[in-house]
Amino acid sequence: MEMLDTGVLVLNRVYQPIHITSVRRAFSLLYQGAARAIDEQFQLFDFQSWSELWVAVHHDAIGTVGRRIRVPRVIVLMMYERMPKTRVRFSRFNIYARDDNTCQYCGGRMPRADLNLDHVVPRSRGGATSWENVVCSCVPCNLRKGGRTPEEAGMRLLRAPTRPRWTPMFRSATRRALYREWRPFLSLADAAYWNAELLT
Ligand SMILES: [Zn+2]
Repeated sequence: MEMLDTGVLVLNRVYQPIHITSVRRAFSLLYQGAARAIDEQFQLFDFQSWSELWVAVHHDAIGTVGRRIRVPRVIVLMMYERMPKTRVRFSRFNIYARDDNTCQYCGGRMPRADLNLDHVVPRSRGGATSWENVVCSCVPCNLRKGGRTPEEAGMRLLRAPTRPRWTPMFRSATRRALYREWRPFLSLADAAYWNAELLT
């Protein structure tokens, strides 16, 4: 993946993680003054001071020969309102991510190739193609259910499908803590701790 497309954790003004954005967008927010970058010592930097930071060998960086700028992995928004509301794209990829590649009928977790999408209330019965009516299903469960509702087929959903609160990318990324720098902010207890440190 190109460095500009890798992830940056976005914190709101009270250091709660709210979103993951791209390095490209993070730099744009920094440059506009809408966000500050935060380093390993939890110091805040505006674009100018950040771009003057020493770039060590182990740091991700962008730029050309003679002008390398460290890639921030965590940024803090100065004004929450500036953050565009992100809509979770209703896509196959995101449904699989929401359901964690798990058949919502038998609970089997499997490769994406072995899963397909199931309309809980079949389309033939007027079931919508929506977050609330489409789930991941393995092929055997899908065949067993056929054109019936779960009740008719005697099958139960693991949980009622809903629109994700966060983007699934955020969910899976936070679970894996892609970057070491994200860890202190990914639990609310830690975020509160770092928040207190920074604001006193
Ligand atoms: Zn199944």
